Amino acid sequence: MIMINPLSELFKNNQQWATDTEQREPGFFSRLLKQQTPQYLWIGCADSRVPANELVGLLPGELFVHRNVANVVAHSDLNALAVIQYAVDALRVQHIIVVGHSNCGGVKAALNDLRLGLVDNWIRHVKDVRFKHKAWLDHVPAQRRVDALCELNVLEQALNLCYTTVVQDAWTRGQSVVVHGWVYGLHNGLLEDLAMTCACLSDVSAAYDRALAGIHQRYTDAPAERISAESGSDPR
Ligand SMILES: [Zn+2]
Repeated sequence: MIMINPLSELFKNNQQWATDTEQREPGFFSRLLKQQTPQYLWIGCADSRVPANELVGLLPGELFVHRNVANVVAHSDLNALAVIQYAVDALRVQHIIVVGHSNCGGVKAALNDLRLGLVDNWIRHVKDVRFKHKAWLDHVPAQRRVDALCELNVLEQALNLCYTTVVQDAWTRGQSVVVHGWVYGLHNGLLEDLAMTCACLSDVSAAYDRALAGIHQRYTDAPAERISAESGSDPR
């Protein structure tokens, strides 16, 4: 019996891509072999609809990428920390961008208490964000709540990133590294800057407040101060 490789199409596509790339830019692969000098580290969701390089039009060698479910930056995640450390200390990237996306499955699970298995423990990080902002989220119309939490999650994960020893040490020694928080719209393919932009430790608090106020304004009309004053007991 002849076994047909079910993944043969991927190899065929790959051969075509390598040929096209080399034709477009002769010597492309031999140049990349010598070094990579990306200016950006992208920390995004593992969702297949958010292909990092493609949607910002960057080629291999131009974007260092870390992806996980719901673009989480957890202080104890050795995988993410190793990527961040290598990107900052060895590759000396100039920008680190935390990128969430609308209608994120991980965020939806966190919002709706879905039980999916082991991944629930990872999504717990997003649930922490949900409960931190519960009083305000309750004021957001139900149909917009997932996207609101997607944006809040970007903010909180970017904040975590600013508080890693890697980023703090880089800032202390005067290395230029700017942290950003963006969100990608699945419905229109567009990126939006949430204005959580931090180039040094003293930027962090004001950037967070500004970005949070922007989210509050986009999703509700009620002033953020009044809502946070209503914050009750934590239901978890
Ligand atoms: Zn996602």
